[in-house]
Amino acid sequence: MTRRPAAMWIRAAGIVLLGGMAIAGGAAGAADSIPTTPYPGPARSIGGAANGCLAGAQALPLSGPGWEVMRPLRNRFWGNPALVAFLEDMARRTASLGRLLVLDMAQPRGGHMTSSHGSHQTGVDADLLYRLASGPLSDEERSAPAMDSMVTAAGGLDPVRWSASQTALVKTFASDPRVERIFVNPAIKRALCGLVTGDRQWLRKLRPWWGHDEHFHVRIACPPGDRDCIAGPPIPAGEGCGDDLAWWFTADAAVPKPSGKPRPPPPEACKAVLQGE
Ligand SMILES: [Zn+2]
Repeated sequence: MTRRPAAMWIRAAGIVLLGGMAIAGGAAGAADSIPTTPYPGPARSIGGAANGCLAGAQALPLSGPGWEVMRPLRNRFWGNPALVAFLEDMARRTASLGRLLVLDMAQPRGGHMTSSHGSHQTGVDADLLYRLASGPLSDEERSAPAMDSMVTAAGGLDPVRWSASQTALVKTFASDPRVERIFVNPAIKRALCGLVTGDRQWLRKLRPWWGHDEHFHVRIACPPGDRDCIAGPPIPAGEGCGDDLAWWFTADAAVPKPSGKPRPPPPEACKAVLQGE
C-alpha cells in the first residue's frame, strides 16, 4: 500500500532518469531550437506540468520588491501570468523573512527542458531556494548561486541553515489556496512533521521528492478558466506524515528508477506553440 502510490507518481510525473531517452518528435530537443520569445496571444497553460507548453507567457522581472531571479541566462523566468502575479504577491508577504531567490520557472513557451526538470512545462511551476537573501545580489551571486543543502548527512535539518524563517517561508507558500502542491526533500518533510505544532493543515501540500534539499518546487493550481491546463493528481487525505513518507526512507527509494518509457509527444495544441522563433 505504501509503495504503489509513490511508484505510480514517479511515472506520472515523468521525473525520472532521462539520460539516453529519445527526444519525442525530434523537434524540440536541441537547445538551439528552443524558442526564445513567448507565443503571442492570451495566456494558456496547455497540458500537464510534465508534458505541455505555455502560450502568452509573462516574464518575472529579474529583481523586484522582495525577490531576485537567479541564473537569468537560462531564460527560465517565464510563467503563466497567474504564476508571476502569485510570486510577486508572495514576495511581498514574505518580505519580513528576506528576499525570495527564484530559480527556474519555465521557458518562454514552456515545453520540455533539456536539463534539470521533467516538469516546469506549462508555466505553473517555480523553484525557490530555501535560503533567503538579506540584500542586493552581486552578479556572481545571481549567476552562480550557492546551493546550500538544508539536510545534514544524518538526515536532519541543518541547524545553521534552517531557521524559523525557512519554516515560516514554506508554511506561507503551502497555506496559500493558489498552491496545488510543493515538492520538498523527504527529510525536510519528516522534520517538519516532527516539529510543527498548532496549525498542521498545510503539511499536506508538502510532497516528498528526490533532491529538493536546497530548493523547494511550488506548483500553483491551473489558473481559473485555463481550460487546456491539466491538474496534477489529487493529494491523498491527511498530513502525509505516516506510511507514505516512511517509504522514502527505505532502500527502494534510495534512487529514482527510470520509467523505461519514451517521453510522450506534447499535446496537439502545443505543436504551433513550440515551433517558430
Ligand atoms: Zn522544480
